[in-house]
Amino acid sequence: KANRTFHPENTVVTVGTQTIGGNQLAIIAGPCSVESREQIITIAQEVKSAGAGFLRGGAFKPRSSPYSFQGMQQEGLELLKQARAATGLPIVTEIMSVKQLEEHHEDIDVIQIGARNMQNFDLLKTAGQLNKPILLKRGLSATIEELLMSAEYILAGGNENVILCERGIRTFETYTRNTLDLSAVLAIKKLSHLPVIVDPSHAAGLWWMVEALSKAAVAVGADGVIIEVHQDPSNAKCDGQQSIKPERFARLMQSLREIARIE
Ligand code: PEP
Ligand code: MN
Repeated sequence: KANRTFHPENTVVTVGTQTIGGNQLAIIAGPCSVESREQIITIAQEVKSAGAGFLRGGAFKPRSSPYSFQGMQQEGLELLKQARAATGLPIVTEIMSVKQLEEHHEDIDVIQIGARNMQNFDLLKTAGQLNKPILLKRGLSATIEELLMSAEYILAGGNENVILCERGIRTFETYTRNTLDLSAVLAIKKLSHLPVIVDPSHAAGLWWMVEALSKAAVAVGADGVIIEVHQDPSNAKCDGQQSIKPERFARLMQSLREIARIE
C-alpha cells in the first residue's frame, strides 16, 4: 500500500487548514519537550508568527537514561492543548505505547511514533486502526525498506494518513548526533507516494547546522521539516544543544520561503 507502483499519485495528509505532501511546505516547530505553560505558549506564539503550521512538543519522552527528564506526561499534553487553543496551531506529539495511544489519540492532531518505536509492531497496528495522521520517524539504524514496511503496518490497518520522517541514522561518524540521509528523501519519494519530512535537529544534534540542513532538505524535495525551537536553549530540559532560538527560526522560515516559493 505504501508502494508508488500501485498508487502513483502523491498522498496529501490534511490537518485542519494545513496539508502535508501537497504544494504547501509543512513546517513543524517547537521545543523538544513541554516544560511549563509559559514556555510552550510563548514558543507556540513565536513559531506561529514566524510562519510555522504546526507546534511540536514532547510530553512523553523516550530518553536513553531512566534518570533523565521523562517529560511532563499527561500535564504536558494538557499544556499543548492550551497552546493549540491560544494559537490555533495543530499539535504534533509523540506517544510511546499502545496504552498512551488509546488514552490520548483524540487530543493529538498528528501522532508521532519516534525512532525508537519504529518497529514496535503492536503500536503500529494500533495506529493503523485510527483515522489520525501518524508521523512515523525512521529508526536509529533502520533501512529505507524497513521504514516503508513499518508504514505498511499502519496502512494495512486502514489508516492512510502516514507521514514519514528522515531524522538521521547511526553511522560510524560521531561529530554529529546522527548522519542525515538526504538521499533517503529521494529514494522514498521514488518508492512511495507518502509525504516525507526531514528533522535536521535530531539528525545533526547541533543547532548551528539546522538552518543549512533545512534548506538542503527542501532543496531535495522534502515535504516539510520538523525543527526544535527553544527560547533559552542552554537551559532546555532536553536537546538544548540542537535547538534554535525563535529569532533564528524566523530567519530560517524566510530562507525556506525563498527556496520553496511558499507564500
Ligand atoms: C523527538 O522528536 O523529540 C525525538 C525523540 O525524536 P526521535 O524519535 O527521532 O529521536
Ligand atoms: Mn528532541
